[in-house]
Amino acid sequence: MLVASLASGSAGNALLVQAGDEALLIDAGISLRSLERLLAYHGVAPAQVRAVLLTHEHDDHALSAVAFARRHRVPLVANELTLAALGEAATTAPVELLPVGECGALGRFSVESFRVAHDAADPVGYRVQTAGVTVALAVDLGSWDATTVAALSAADLIVIEANHDPALLPAAPYPAAVRRRISGPRGHLDNTQCGQLLAQIIANGAYSDVWLAHLSRHANTPQMALAGVGQVLRQAGVQCLPRLQALPARAHPAPGGIPIWQACERWRQPHLFALDE
Ligand SMILES: [Zn+2]
Ligand SMILES: [Zn+2]
Repeated sequence: MLVASLASGSAGNALLVQAGDEALLIDAGISLRSLERLLAYHGVAPAQVRAVLLTHEHDDHALSAVAFARRHRVPLVANELTLAALGEAATTAPVELLPVGECGALGRFSVESFRVAHDAADPVGYRVQTAGVTVALAVDLGSWDATTVAALSAADLIVIEANHDPALLPAAPYPAAVRRRISGPRGHLDNTQCGQLLAQIIANGAYSDVWLAHLSRHANTPQMALAGVGQVLRQAGVQCLPRLQALPARAHPAPGGIPIWQACERWRQPHLFALDE
């Protein structure tokens, strides 16, 4: 499995999950032109994209989802309320319903959604699995429960929101109502909350690589997110810190410009080098 972050944050989100010659997009919250350009640079033809999974209907996640699905005859996968919230436009694209909590097969991938706490119609996160490798994603959530922890546990790569630094948000250039929304239980996770959620996931016995996602442009920096989350994990007594990386807001069609995670096949097949153990 290979995972590529094409965009992450309030200016747009799009994550590409690849296995062999097939791919899935989770969210398509950048312009159609940017999305097609990044895919082309990355060497993925739209015909290889098996589906566009939507986490929720907000523009930074859904901006070009319908247009991409319609133009390339790729199914849009979402739950009923999310599709309804997209309005008339969604009826013009091929659609596959995935009720919350259900598991579906999309080509080589098995996909499961789980509900998250966010101020959208029926927002979800996803677990995507192929050949024994799992990526789990939860972006845009203001709080969590046991379902969230379970859904993000035992994944090889966790993509999780570290939206803002709690100390920077009060000074960010947003109206007070927006700041309240962001920090509310159906808004966005701050760095401390992200660390607390990760500590619970890791306490479940899962060691994963972690991508910190959806960083606020005005109230966070990659350095603050990494430091804030790392500090909470250390305070929680996490012995073996996960490999943390903070995602940039936008990938660039340039060498090294697209953040990539790749499952290490050899590591996942210990019998190949376990002779002396
Ligand atoms: Zn968002
Ligand atoms: Zn949102």
